[in-house]
Amino acid sequence: MTNHTHEVELIKPREACGVFGVLAPGSPVAHQTYLGLYALQHRGQESAGIAVSDGSNVTVVKDMGLVSGAFDDRVLAVLEGDIAIGHTRYSTTGSSSWRASQPFYRDVGDLEFALAHNGNLVNTAALAADAGMLDGTVMSDSDLVAELVAIELATGEAPEGNELPWAMARVLPQLRGGFSFVAMDRHHLVGARGPEGFWPLCLGRLDNGWVLASESPALDTVGAHFVREVDPGEMVVISRDGWTSERPFKNPNPRLCMFEFVYFSRPDTVLYGRNVHAARQRMGEQLADQAPVVADLVMPVPESGIPAAQGFARASGIPYRDGLVKNRYIGRTFIAPSQEMRALGVKMKLNPIRHNIEGQRLIVVDDSIVRGTTTRAIVEMLRAAGAAEVHLRISSPPYRWPCFYGMDTGTKAELLAADLTMDEIREYLGVNSIAYLELDRLIDATGAPGAGFCTACLDGQYPVPIPQGLDREVLGERRDEPGTTSVSVSQMKLGQ
Ligand code: SF4
Repeated sequence: MTNHTHEVELIKPREACGVFGVLAPGSPVAHQTYLGLYALQHRGQESAGIAVSDGSNVTVVKDMGLVSGAFDDRVLAVLEGDIAIGHTRYSTTGSSSWRASQPFYRDVGDLEFALAHNGNLVNTAALAADAGMLDGTVMSDSDLVAELVAIELATGEAPEGNELPWAMARVLPQLRGGFSFVAMDRHHLVGARGPEGFWPLCLGRLDNGWVLASESPALDTVGAHFVREVDPGEMVVISRDGWTSERPFKNPNPRLCMFEFVYFSRPDTVLYGRNVHAARQRMGEQLADQAPVVADLVMPVPESGIPAAQGFARASGIPYRDGLVKNRYIGRTFIAPSQEMRALGVKMKLNPIRHNIEGQRLIVVDDSIVRGTTTRAIVEMLRAAGAAEVHLRISSPPYRWPCFYGMDTGTKAELLAADLTMDEIREYLGVNSIAYLELDRLIDATGAPGAGFCTACLDGQYPVPIPQGLDREVLGERRDEPGTTSVSVSQMKLGQ
């Protein structure tokens, strides 16, 4: 981010990376990884990288920007081999720079490996101090893990031929927080999911090999069959001879991020054995049952609110109709030069269909509200287009607490629902009524209520304790950064 520009406000919590890996002798693994990352682009748009092994060398290519911009045919053609891993990044720790992009690479004597991480550790500082690293020498928590694995390889007595899996099995139990990894050396592809399994990872089968991916649609993209999700606390080690499962963590305690179901994952993804799109429709059905209202039509905020709006309409019997058109060519974020231009940002993204709205009592459905400024702008837009009433229905509970495990939600001071009553929220957004889905109903709607979820940003119950110091910054006021604007909830209420 440069000075005098402001990234358009945090409309939704932002994903913290997608990972992909493939071992398939005889296949163009770099191209397959490119396609896999393309399918995971929604999980991070800041940088993309691919590492490939041909059995003799590990080569890494990475660049800033989207997958389509970071790679072309010429680059992919020289990445020959039969093992590859890939990464799309959205930075939650570390800076947004080429140096912080992934996969990270290390060589230790004759060994080489590369590693890519989805998530955020909460004990980075303690780990770095224990390893004797100086302040500022670690690029990010993912870089730190690569360094810890390298230290194990350099100082431990790794069994010959199994060095990387051995070193990872020793390092992983030291990590606290959110993490799913893919890693590789010249002969292995490794996938690992932390004991809480905040972030998803699944295994797929090709005729001639195996695939790992953050989300199952990336398997479909390369023609792999879904085998199963990697379990929380499991490490899968794949070689040219097959794969094995190891359990380096003593007490797995599954806590999949609830927002994977609500918003982050693609609708065609399978989580805990359940289809995400169907779960989102059930959330809408539950919402209709919990908070009915007399109205003329149900409309989604596109695209995030579509499945829940469909469910709401089905359960309530009120007709479903589009009321807003989304510009298909706009990314999730873009840069606006000033605060005033931010307001225009919503108009660039969405435009009302006056014909469907004028004189109508609307039920507007979305999946979540972070800061609320976008939602308020949408409501203003609908009123200007002639809506008689606007009833807002949100298919998740109020988002009150920041995430420490790998999602960029901003600080507590930036969250609309952090300190306001429901009436204050309704007033700020300018709607006739508002309802958020209750947590019990949300958990039921996933279809896997007993499977284990993190709901910390909804109820403040953090499943992995947050070290003192880390919490102060994020739970307090937002820190000032060059080129960003501090906005508190009270300021937002005043429309500043
Ligand atoms: S705090 Fe919220 S966003 Fe973070 S892992 Fe838990 S449910 Fe997901």
